[in-house]
Amino acid sequence: MELEEQEGVDPVIERRCAECGATLTESEIRAALELRGPFLCAVHASEEVALDEDAEPPA
Ligand SMILES: [Zn+2]
Repeated sequence: MELEEQEGVDPVIERRCAECGATLTESEIRAALELRGPFLCAVHASEEVALDEDAEPPA
């Protein structure tokens, strides 16, 4: 459960990566909103996906 009230978030608002503070692109912001996850830049977002997909660590 998110306590933040982001329902009426302004699409023009500038978001930054929660990890490195990089300014996010519109698509990156949209992805974060859709996933209701933290705002991450493409680098850190892909890292999260990579970690999630890497369920089986190499032997
Ligand atoms: Zn980042």
